[in-house]
Amino acid sequence: MAPSLHPLIDNGVTKGDASFAGGKLQCLCSTNPVEVTLTSNVAHNHVCGCSKCWKPAGALFSLVAVVPKDKLSVTANADKLQIVDSSAAIQRYACKECGTHLYGRIEKEHPFHGLDFVHVELSDKREWQEPQFAAFVSSIIEQGFAPEGMDEVRGKLKSLGLEPYDALSPRLMDAIATWTAKKAGKLPA
Ligand SMILES: [Zn+2]
Ligand SMILES: [Zn+2]
Repeated sequence: MAPSLHPLIDNGVTKGDASFAGGKLQCLCSTNPVEVTLTSNVAHNHVCGCSKCWKPAGALFSLVAVVPKDKLSVTANADKLQIVDSSAAIQRYACKECGTHLYGRIEKEHPFHGLDFVHVELSDKREWQEPQFAAFVSSIIEQGFAPEGMDEVRGKLKSLGLEPYDALSPRLMDAIATWTAKKAGKLPA
């Protein structure tokens, strides 16, 4: 049996609605869930194989996207949030009770400053932008996935239209490099 990449894509990728205007995300607590409200659709939605992104039990990949931070607000039970690792570049806010990550925010100087990282599967709406690519695919091995299975994983990602990369997509890697070059004065700011 093929391994589960992520429950939202195992049976195919459902296209989102480009005009979708946002919605609510909730943690997995059955009572008093933390609620985050997004007032726009997300961008750069992708599956990620890194060890830091939150993913549902049994999934090899997380599903993660970004939204401008002024489009995100915590609208219920904010007192249940705590920062997972305050030394990380992305401050990931998780529910103390169920462990679900509600959003990740970059507070320091960084190419993605101003964007928050979110998981749209925590919404009951399905019009969010669909995943566009697969990032940090080789990193699943670091978490114990047998390397012999990587051809199958990459093949499945490609069949879903999710080009597998072992870093971010070329477009995002270019954005990071451009930011770095401007900071170093190698490109005009
Ligand atoms: Zn919770
Ligand atoms: Zn990740």
